[in-house]
Amino acid sequence: IWEACLQYIKDNISEKSYFTWFQPIKAVKLQDKILTIQVPSKFYYEYLEENYIKIIKSALTKNLGKDAKLVYSIMMEKNQQSENSFTVNIPSSQKAQIKVQEVEAPLFIERGVKNPFIIPGLQKLKIDSQLNTNYTFDNFIEGDSNRLARSAGKQIAKRPGGTSFNPLFIYSSVGLGKTHLAHAIGLEVKRIQAEKTVLYVSMEKFCQQFQEATKSNNRNDFIHFYQMIDVLIVDDIHFISGKKGTQEVFFHIFNHLHQNGKQIILTSDKSPVDIQDVEQRLISRFKWGLSTEIQSPDYTTRLAILQQKMEFDGIALSEEVLDYIAKNIKTNIRELEGSLNSIIAQATFNKKEITLELVEKTLSNLITNSKKDITIEYIQNLVCDYFKVSIDALQSKTRKRDIVQARQLAMYFAKKYTNASLSSIGIQIGKRDHATVLHACKTVDNLFETDKLFKSYVDDLNKKLTSDI
Ligand code: ADP
Ligand code: MG
Repeated sequence: IWEACLQYIKDNISEKSYFTWFQPIKAVKLQDKILTIQVPSKFYYEYLEENYIKIIKSALTKNLGKDAKLVYSIMMEKNQQSENSFTVNIPSSQKAQIKVQEVEAPLFIERGVKNPFIIPGLQKLKIDSQLNTNYTFDNFIEGDSNRLARSAGKQIAKRPGGTSFNPLFIYSSVGLGKTHLAHAIGLEVKRIQAEKTVLYVSMEKFCQQFQEATKSNNRNDFIHFYQMIDVLIVDDIHFISGKKGTQEVFFHIFNHLHQNGKQIILTSDKSPVDIQDVEQRLISRFKWGLSTEIQSPDYTTRLAILQQKMEFDGIALSEEVLDYIAKNIKTNIRELEGSLNSIIAQATFNKKEITLELVEKTLSNLITNSKKDITIEYIQNLVCDYFKVSIDALQSKTRKRDIVQARQLAMYFAKKYTNASLSSIGIQIGKRDHATVLHACKTVDNLFETDKLFKSYVDDLNKKLTSDI
């Protein structure tokens, strides 16, 4: 019966609303025309009652008859004791104020109306945004590596919630500027529209807050608080992996904000598809807006970052020295800044001039550490990445042209850059024998001579492989 109702509802509302509000519902009992459905939270129930009651009613009448009844069973809030679970527990001294305490982890909200989140705009939430004023757009150097993320961020700051970038999902490995950019967006929103409620929170902190709220029976207040934010920035969202309760609660908050046109900005060390141990329905939401990667900065960007930092610190370094640092510290901007700091520290401490020699000495440690040994695995990853094929495909038996080509190149580079024998290369790249590897190497040599496009692939890959050592 519920299935039939769902079908009816699905045909009558938007796919997105259906997905958000009806997909998670389970029918649990049908007795004497009383249908019991299980909803994930009290908030769900209220939202349904408020917004979809008509359509639910007609679906039920259609499938069960006129005297059909609906009972909601609420999954999450077993701890709730009071009858009216919307009474928010706040210290009585503050009851008169329509604002939250300006504390670091504000959780308590006073409400003037019964369902503040359903009637938006009736009250304003005043909170500390937790934004770091050092991380602005002004000092976020633009480069090829971050251009898309940066420009999406700028557009969002002008019209939070009003672009198709909702959520904005920024991912990269560490030290490439996710946190900086996230703060910059928040600050820019505040600069343009000071009345917007912006909140920056790391997922780690969100988890802690949620645990505390659960312990002290304030789960509802926690949810309500987050649902009143205009621009929610959650840093390092990957931290949610494996945490079921937090995922559940974040799911509801996300839905509520998104549904109400509020902006969500997420950062992660992995792309949405690569995050492990997170419910599918959350992952799919992460992909709703724009997911964009910040890559390692190129030389020019690294140099520009160094120059900016130098200016900020009020020091001057020779071009030669800057060039050396920018050439040698490649993957991580935090390291880039760190190396500059240690050079300055060394020079100050030893009362020496900053010469190339001093720089080389200071950095030798860092540089050897960031040196990568070229392994067969590394080559496979690089080749797969380059041709956008999966490792599994590369190692499979498939004879598809583009995959064969990638596989042969991986073998060729393994021969060229590692000491592995032909047969060991064969085993590691898809369990082939040494003759296959030999054949691959010859094919690559031949094509390299005759096929221009192929030659450009080899040159590109060669460059990538050698630039990292
Ligand atoms: P992530 O969050 O990705 O680990 P961060 O945002 O913490 O990286 O950045 C690491 C450091 O590098 C910070 O000090 C940040 O200010 C600096 N940084 C990153 N990207 C840029 C950039 N494009 N321009 C200037 N500084 C940057
Ligand atoms: Mg960060």
